[in-house]
Amino acid sequence: MQPSGLLHLGNLMGALDNWRKLQDQYECYYFIADWHALTSNYADTSKLRTFVREMVIDWLAAGLDPEKCVIFQQSLVPDHAVLHVLLSMSTPLPWLERVPTFKEKIEQIADKDMHTYGFLGYPLLQAADILIYKADFVPVGIDQLPHLELTREVCRRFNGFYGEVFPEPQPLMTEYPKLPGTDGRKMSKSYNNTINLSDSPEEITKKVMAMVTDPARVRRQDPGNPDVCPLFSLDKIFAPKEWQGYVDVECRRAGIGCVDDKRELLKHLLAYLKPIQEKRKELSAHPERVIEIIQEGSRKARVVAGRTMEQVKEAMKL
Ligand code: ADP
Repeated sequence: MQPSGLLHLGNLMGALDNWRKLQDQYECYYFIADWHALTSNYADTSKLRTFVREMVIDWLAAGLDPEKCVIFQQSLVPDHAVLHVLLSMSTPLPWLERVPTFKEKIEQIADKDMHTYGFLGYPLLQAADILIYKADFVPVGIDQLPHLELTREVCRRFNGFYGEVFPEPQPLMTEYPKLPGTDGRKMSKSYNNTINLSDSPEEITKKVMAMVTDPARVRRQDPGNPDVCPLFSLDKIFAPKEWQGYVDVECRRAGIGCVDDKRELLKHLLAYLKPIQEKRKELSAHPERVIEIIQEGSRKARVVAGRTMEQVKEAMKL
């Protein structure tokens, strides 16, 4: 995950919650992709260290356990860059140019110059990130599938030239809810519509109370449609089933208003976040402990990555 901002409910339900479960089933490596963050945020790195620390605090608060998984920082394992440069020698340029997210972002991001060598190469750096641990599986959302496919192609090409060094990583697809933000679009830090794990209960209350609902329901006495209501999408995740059923009926006949639903959602949302926020507070008071966890995880990662690089250099006769 890139340390490019504060983590929000979408990151929690869409990624972290799944990571937390996976750490009990697999040998997991979770990393702070600080080099990847530079591919789009290279011009202003003033907040990078804060984001790194806050992100790991969010991870730990959400239940990632350094006793169960390896938590590390990409830039503390320089072998990722070594493998990246070696893979770059044999990777055909069109393989990178045709990655869908490359074309999309070049067109979408208007406020930054994305025509950089680093940005073009970022899926290849990702391939190095994965292959260097000889990963069998990568937990990905559907949007990341093309990147993993590139990794698999790069892997086959390398093994074809130099012998079987890397296993071909498989996607570990997970169903997760796409959380809407307070404006109804996908919750994303790029849209300024997030509810962050680090927001105070007062801030969260303010955000939820100002949240967009069914746009066609203008007045309290208008019937609403929960199927198009972003607030109801959050109900479906955080509110009890009975409340969801109640809203599903009553909203449609103007039996309850949006404000009633917001108040009820807030109760459940704040209760859900309470233990996470308490853990956050505790960790924030001990930043040195957080740094230690990153250092220790990165040390473990360096050992594994170093072992793979020995095999790579042997295979390539370097
Ligand atoms: P952002 O859009 O805020 O920049 P990222 O792209 O950094 O978020 O997301 C990191 C991970 O968090 C994604 O791989 C995805 O699994 C998850 N995620 C992000 N936004 C959402 C969302 N709105 N709903 C569900 N999951 C999300």
